[in-house]
Amino acid sequence: MNKKQFSIRKSFQQRLQFSRFYTLHQRSLSEITKWQNEAVRDLVRHTYHNVPLWHELLVRLDIDPECFSGLDDLHRLPITDKSFYFGNAFDDYLDSSRSIRTPLTTTSGSTGKPLQLFPSDMILNPYYCFFSRFRFLVWKNNRIQPISSIRSVFIRGTQIYYGENVLFIKGSDFLNQIDDSIERIRAFHPDVIDTNPSFFLRMAQALARNQRGPLNIPYALSVSEILLPEVRNFVETTIGCNIYNRYASEEMHGIATECDMHDGMHIHPESVFVEIVDTNGHAVADGNEGRVIATNLINYNMPFIRYDTGDRGIMRFEPCACGMCTPRLWIEGRRGASLQFDGRPIDRMEFEIAIRHLTNHILQFQIVKTGPSDLLIRIIPSQRFTGETSDYIRKKMRDVVGPHVDIEIELVESIAQMPSGKSQTIVDESKVV
Ligand SMILES: [Zn+2]
Repeated sequence: MNKKQFSIRKSFQQRLQFSRFYTLHQRSLSEITKWQNEAVRDLVRHTYHNVPLWHELLVRLDIDPECFSGLDDLHRLPITDKSFYFGNAFDDYLDSSRSIRTPLTTTSGSTGKPLQLFPSDMILNPYYCFFSRFRFLVWKNNRIQPISSIRSVFIRGTQIYYGENVLFIKGSDFLNQIDDSIERIRAFHPDVIDTNPSFFLRMAQALARNQRGPLNIPYALSVSEILLPEVRNFVETTIGCNIYNRYASEEMHGIATECDMHDGMHIHPESVFVEIVDTNGHAVADGNEGRVIATNLINYNMPFIRYDTGDRGIMRFEPCACGMCTPRLWIEGRRGASLQFDGRPIDRMEFEIAIRHLTNHILQFQIVKTGPSDLLIRIIPSQRFTGETSDYIRKKMRDVVGPHVDIEIELVESIAQMPSGKSQTIVDESKVV
């Protein structure tokens, strides 16, 4: 390691050691910006010296890392996406100065080719992992101390947390033995349950069907999918929990989490820098919707800089009623697969946006292409769903798919889930023989 590499790593480590890493999210916007400026500067310098692909890009753009000012210079770098990471040797994206200790992981691949990646060394730090996930409990000055003693239930595809205070239930086991799983959770007396809206919905439906009392779990973390308001109400009442919405991805780890106000998700400023841009990549005004672009400030193994999450959202900088100044994020649409009608690919987001005003009428939906010109919409209705809702959905979907597609609506009790537990919002059954 040469002297320059050493000094960059040392400065990164020093920043992590300061308690301000764990308290930054509660500080003023100017302190947050100052910290993020340093973090971006360190990251860009690190990539220049240690990551071949980024080195080549910075040289090509004539960017001298020693003169890179931080956030104000970030726009000089291009917006990247998954395609940036395909096509070259995998090692070219990685820190070449040392061996990587974190396990190789893979994105879900819901938009096509999955991306393999090495997460930050920080995921090897159990305190960081709990802090990243359960920081809303820190904000609450919660009785549960220390944070690692939180009794938590995770329902998901693969296990990532272990310990005597963790109950892990594999998604497929949960679906196969839902009543048994619920009783295991009840007997465990958790403080928090962490899963996606589809599993929360299944659990609430099972409790309602069996007329079993609520589980009375103080907190719930909802991840992976958009949480519809009607699902939130139904789940909170039936399971007996207070849901906190969270936004995360494999590439960024935790990005944002709700506070007690449940009015947008506070960005995790020590770990990620978020920008909202328009279709041309220009920053939008505060509160306007656009593409969510994120820079992972702590992943030195495989850097993600100005990375297009594929999701759309809104960011606001005004202080929250909870008192924190960390910008808040609202995710309006998550990336997903697309369906092709009349030669035009239609992204899941277009379907979601078409019916987002009906979220009080729908618990869950699935858009299915059943033939070259046939669209089926499966819906788990809420109690507010009426014939008028059905007519409205048909009309909005007609605007999306065009006049030549036959649209059918089917009301169902459940929708199939993938092994990871995510529901499949977009399905092409037209090619099934
Ligand atoms: Zn807040």
